[in-house]
Amino acid sequence: NTVVVTGANGLIASWVVKLLLERGYTVRGAVRNPDDTKKVGHLLQLPGANERLILCKADLLNEGAYDGVVAGADGVFHTASPFFMKNMTNPEERFLSPAVRGTLNVLKSAAKAKSVKRVVLTSSTDTVAHNRESKDPNVVVDETWWRRSRAWYALSKLTAEKAAWDFVKDIDFDLLVMNPSMVIGPLLQNSLNSSTGIILNVITGATKEYTNFATGCVNVRDTALAHVLAYEMPSAEGRYILSKTVEGNSPESKDLLPDV
Ligand code: NDP
Repeated sequence: NTVVVTGANGLIASWVVKLLLERGYTVRGAVRNPDDTKKVGHLLQLPGANERLILCKADLLNEGAYDGVVAGADGVFHTASPFFMKNMTNPEERFLSPAVRGTLNVLKSAAKAKSVKRVVLTSSTDTVAHNRESKDPNVVVDETWWRRSRAWYALSKLTAEKAAWDFVKDIDFDLLVMNPSMVIGPLLQNSLNSSTGIILNVITGATKEYTNFATGCVNVRDTALAHVLAYEMPSAEGRYILSKTVEGNSPESKDLLPDV
């Protein structure tokens, strides 16, 4: 069984790759630069990597970049997407385009390949969670909250997810969507990403504005396992919220998710 993981060097994807190798899969890891040892070195050290991990070069913005990576594969885990909360210059170009066009690029390659049976897409609870309405334990946050977000990152995630659901309407593979809340836990790579960086900033006091910030959280190992089980279990379908705790309702949440 051969599967592709996009953004293979990322926080979540690294754990997905690790689990897949442990379970005997052959993994094609799509990264922006397979020669950048700072970014991919930890993947090459994983048990089974020598035998069954192939790193491939692909950028979300390059049309057709995933054709060769996906050709002949049985499944795809599409995790790659811009994920940062600071320096929001050119958000359409830096966020929306890679998230949405990139997702469609990957799905188009999967459709062309014909061999792909299932695609697992990493979306986010941000697709529905933030719309400035009050939440209490009786409020159900579901797809009726679509499109009310006013933050670039959240907008990129929900636009990409909606585009994915539209794309697969007439396509012959399953789409499974994972919606994690804030992902934290042990790192396989050498540097912090946006979600794990937030924790360090809170601990060191480097960022003061999170003092009243509340969010759901999920461990990165559980997140990765959910991705793999979604791929493996025939009965899996639709969208899955991955969150250990419920989303909070602090007014300061807007600081983490700057307005569009
Ligand atoms: P990381 O920042 O660790 O990983 C993001 C990955 O996307 C990196 O491999 C990055 O590559 C890749 N990427 C970004 N832009 C491009 C591009 N233009 N072309 C190719 N690859 C690109 O974040 P996570 O592992 O946390 O995020 C993975 C997914 O999970 C994302 O879709 C994110 O939105 C989603 N998610 C994350 C949550 C969290 O709290 N961490 C919560 C909910 C959802 P490079 O290293 O080269 O930049």
